[in-house]
Amino acid sequence: MKRRERAMKWSGWSLHLGRIAGIDLYMHATFPLLFLWVGLLYWVQTGTLGGILFGLAFIAVLFFCVVLHEYGHALTARRFGIGTRYITLLPIGGLAALEKMPKDPKQEIIVALMGPAVNVVIALGLFIILSISGGWAPIDPEAPLMMPANFLQSVLFANLFLAVFNMIPAFPMDGGRVLRAALTFSMGRMKATALAARIGQTLALGFGILGLFGNPFLILIAVFIWIGAASEAGATELETQLRHKPVSRAMITDFHTLAPYSSLSHAVGLTLAGKQKDFPVLDGSRVVGVAHQTAILRGLRDYGLEGRIADVMSEPLTADYRDDLASLLEALQQEPEARLVCILDRGKLIGIVDMENISEFLRIQAALRAA
Ligand SMILES: [Zn+2]
Repeated sequence: MKRRERAMKWSGWSLHLGRIAGIDLYMHATFPLLFLWVGLLYWVQTGTLGGILFGLAFIAVLFFCVVLHEYGHALTARRFGIGTRYITLLPIGGLAALEKMPKDPKQEIIVALMGPAVNVVIALGLFIILSISGGWAPIDPEAPLMMPANFLQSVLFANLFLAVFNMIPAFPMDGGRVLRAALTFSMGRMKATALAARIGQTLALGFGILGLFGNPFLILIAVFIWIGAASEAGATELETQLRHKPVSRAMITDFHTLAPYSSLSHAVGLTLAGKQKDFPVLDGSRVVGVAHQTAILRGLRDYGLEGRIADVMSEPLTADYRDDLASLLEALQQEPEARLVCILDRGKLIGIVDMENISEFLRIQAALRAA
């Protein structure tokens, strides 16, 4: 049997645990703190090594269920043709970084629901196992819920809690996405996001007030929801600023182009002489591709200075000059490789736009508003 090298690698604050079903699984550096905290909690409550071990085993199994929950989202998204960049374990739960959210609200609802559905299925499975084996322990209202009385029973209740908790209708919970997608049917995505964010913040306020009089854990949840709602509303705010602004207002009109038969050395010369890193490729007056700097550098390594642009160019991303900047930004974000959009007027190239232009445009708009 061949042994594969399995060195654990750090990426920023996250440790790479492995690649499962084609998705990289990471653990955030703060994640072990949770085990430390749970160990401490059980030591205080039970004072025995057995108690501590139970606590640690319990939280390990629980987070295995959290990983399955995230794969529920990721693998459902894959069915709709959407990839997942990575899954990270945080002390507060898991996070599946989807490349994008489905545009179709029906698909978004299904992707959001398939996480909690995994926890419901696990709980159902445990319910059946416990019922068949007669392993139900009597629930003692005096004793803490998560005690060694019955391990499987504790895991079952925890999964039910995860399903219910994630269905709270507020960002960043799955319930928030379901709510937003459901509202989208009647009022459009932007209004739906704003309303969902408002509902989330109202809920957060409620949790916060409840937390002041009861369980301090609720205050933590309130802060978490408040931040989630604010960031989602912020993303919509950005979209609003770019909506109905034609791309022609942000495009560069002074730029260089290349031909498919141009040599890589010509592209290098243009890059060194100016600021442009990515180039539209024209065959006559027709846009046939885009040569990105990364591809040009890769081409230099593979073909040398005499390599041709045709060997390194990729499919062009194009937009009409009357399209609005919001849809252009969306197109750019959906193609992680693309960095440049070719702007056309009746099929003829009249300008280019990249992320830098868009942020410059936003800075200028902000300055104008402040004036
Ligand atoms: Zn989820």
